[in-house]
Amino acid sequence: MSEECPKCQGSMTDGVIIDTSYTDRRVSTWLEGAPVKSIWVGLKLNGNKPIETHTFRCNRCGFLESYAPL
Ligand SMILES: [Zn+2]
Repeated sequence: MSEECPKCQGSMTDGVIIDTSYTDRRVSTWLEGAPVKSIWVGLKLNGNKPIETHTFRCNRCGFLESYAPL
């Protein structure tokens, strides 16, 4: 999948944003609604399902554009 940067029209490369914790690395996810903090799990999900994202990065200016497909 090839994209053109909406800022500078450079070419963009598909990838992911990594969330890093003490124990592992995971793909960043998108969650509907405002974040609600929890002292136990970091953020509450409130019944919503997190969606894994993928992100294009412009090879010229570094602009990031993320998608959370169904
Ligand atoms: Zn660009």
